[in-house]
Amino acid sequence: MTPSLTFLGAAGTVTGSKFLLDTGEARLLLECGLFQGLKELRLQNWAPPPFDPASLQAVILSHAHIDHSGYLPRLARVGFKGPIYCTTWTADLLRIMLSDAAHLQEEEADYANRHGTSTHQPALPLFTVDDAENALGLVKPVAVNTPVAMGRGVSARFIRSGHILGAAIMEVRVGDLKVVHSGDLGRYGVPIMPDPEPVARADVLLVESTYGNRLHPREDPAAVLVAAVQRAVEHKGWLLIPAFAVGRSQEILYALRELEKAGRIPSLGVYLDSPMAIEATLIYARHPEEEDPGTGPFIPRRFHLAKSVQDSKALNDVDGPLIVISGSGMATGGRVLHHLSHRLPDPRTTVLFVGYQAAGTRGRLLRDGARTIRIFGEEVAVRATIMASDAYSAHADQGEILRWLKGFHQPPRMTYIVHGEPDAALALREKITQDLGWPGVVAEAGATVPLR
Ligand SMILES: [Zn+2]
Repeated sequence: MTPSLTFLGAAGTVTGSKFLLDTGEARLLLECGLFQGLKELRLQNWAPPPFDPASLQAVILSHAHIDHSGYLPRLARVGFKGPIYCTTWTADLLRIMLSDAAHLQEEEADYANRHGTSTHQPALPLFTVDDAENALGLVKPVAVNTPVAMGRGVSARFIRSGHILGAAIMEVRVGDLKVVHSGDLGRYGVPIMPDPEPVARADVLLVESTYGNRLHPREDPAAVLVAAVQRAVEHKGWLLIPAFAVGRSQEILYALRELEKAGRIPSLGVYLDSPMAIEATLIYARHPEEEDPGTGPFIPRRFHLAKSVQDSKALNDVDGPLIVISGSGMATGGRVLHHLSHRLPDPRTTVLFVGYQAAGTRGRLLRDGARTIRIFGEEVAVRATIMASDAYSAHADQGEILRWLKGFHQPPRMTYIVHGEPDAALALREKITQDLGWPGVVAEAGATVPLR
């Protein structure tokens, strides 16, 4: 049979990355992400997968972010027992991310049962800590740039994408056919992370388009962060930065330290209030490409860790000016929700979003100017000042995606645009077809396409 690819997620949206590669002899799942944001997307996490999980030969993962990896525990729960291939750093990060995701699932179900906020009686977690452990037991870390044979004529290679620690572009060979997935592409010339590595050839290419219609600001990337800190100082208030635990939190800490060193901001107390971000920061500090080993480059002068729930709650009594970095980055869960419910009604508060906010998330609603927001079943008034900066995005913008595409020595036979909301994906398709002259289409959710 002709090998085929089915877009099971991250098609017309940025979350739920899952692509089923069927070679005729083997079935592989590229990415295994959780849907986040809009309810109709999140409900898909509960639907049975449209393939027999036990029939999968392997899962191949580009990086540890939950929208690429968070379905793994569920997949293990419904019968998958094969290997999960990823880079060694991704394997390290998965350990903390999947456990955290499972705890969140269990806590949410527990909360719903205690407060009767779910229509399901009893409310069940999507997966448990045991499921996460089972999935982690299947992880097979491999070195970057080293092809790994998976049997039945399939091999794969991971190439650095520069998005977060361990993030990779995936090159999958099925016989003489070469399928490349960009994964999440990082940026060029940013601190901590390497540039996305070029790829010379692909028969079929999947390229992400999160910022396919945007250019990140070129001038002073720190301007918004500096302004947000200044506002916190002037109003003696909190600067609350919801941030992804892995990648963004470390970048923000690094940026704060650099700004302190340059004398552009005063040294405020900086609290990292996320057990996962704390662990991820330790993993980042072990990174071999680390520019400044030993001294901890992520650490502002007055740095505090809020490890336990008590530490986090104790922050409620601490007055500004101060900076709190807490997850989740899109305010869909995690400790940041408690801080938001306390601090949003206070006009002295500044909230700074530093990452992509998917449609339907609280982060997106706040960024779009919501005057009230629902947290823990209650309407919370928004009197805080909401700011946002794309300067710390871990995603390539349109220009950077095109720069990476221009590294190919010849056009792929077909390029599928994935991992973007419709406007972004369409804009990137225009650039690919018109500027580069390559054949390209926006991947359609649920569609199956032949690879030859
Ligand atoms: Zn990512």
